[in-house]
Amino acid sequence: MPELPEVETTRLGLLPRLQGRTLKQLVVRNPRLRWPVPDDLDLQLAGLTLKGLTRRGKYLLFDFGPATQIVHLGMSGSLRFAAPDEPAALHDHLDWQFDDGTVLRLRDPRRFGAVLLTDDVAQHPLLAHLGPEPLTPAFDAAYLHAQCQRRGTAIKQVIMDARVVVGVGNIYASESLFHAGIRPATAARRLSRPACARLTAAIKQVLAAAIAAGGSSLRDYVHSSGELGYFQLQTRVYGRQGLPCKACGTPVRRIVLGQRATFYCPVCQR
Ligand SMILES: [Zn+2]
Repeated sequence: MPELPEVETTRLGLLPRLQGRTLKQLVVRNPRLRWPVPDDLDLQLAGLTLKGLTRRGKYLLFDFGPATQIVHLGMSGSLRFAAPDEPAALHDHLDWQFDDGTVLRLRDPRRFGAVLLTDDVAQHPLLAHLGPEPLTPAFDAAYLHAQCQRRGTAIKQVIMDARVVVGVGNIYASESLFHAGIRPATAARRLSRPACARLTAAIKQVLAAAIAAGGSSLRDYVHSSGELGYFQLQTRVYGRQGLPCKACGTPVRRIVLGQRATFYCPVCQR
């Protein structure tokens, strides 16, 4: 599943080629994504210039001035540049054709992705209740500590809750807790302020490293330049059940929290 680092890497790959380009046509081959693609999308957007491309959580926001297109890659979506004469494959559901011949193509075999339109990003129901971005100063120890004090659930589930903070997926949650020395099942309200400081720092560090490495999670994910090959994150605990902890040699344990596989070192994380 594309996680925040993959989405951010995609955004950074698309922006220089798309910003300032005028949309000539939007071709929808299959509108049946997670929610139906609005059928007047081409009518609304053709002729408009892309002013910017930002991200909120895992949502890409295409700023066309009067309207913003919200794009989510779901479980298996990817965006790439296609050659102008390149035929669409089975799962290529949508094309953005720009005035300079650039074609941006959405592929989504499982169709859990979304392409929607809004004139009010801040109030859109998918975005209005999202917590802060993990890489901004708003996500700090004081904020996380306040959120934790209100919650008795496991800290791993709290940091994966998009209302608390966006973009901390399953791999990144396990890895961040390892770096912070915190056990994933610890009740959130038992975390001290210094522990929250270590955890916010670890989340920022793990996500920034993954963005720098170009994302990590989906094998068939296609980079926005068209080439295959996101790097697999060098994990410290995730997926390493029974293998020696890279810090202390103790076998890494696997538990299930909130129905998600969770990995930790029983010695390094107390
Ligand atoms: Zn260890």
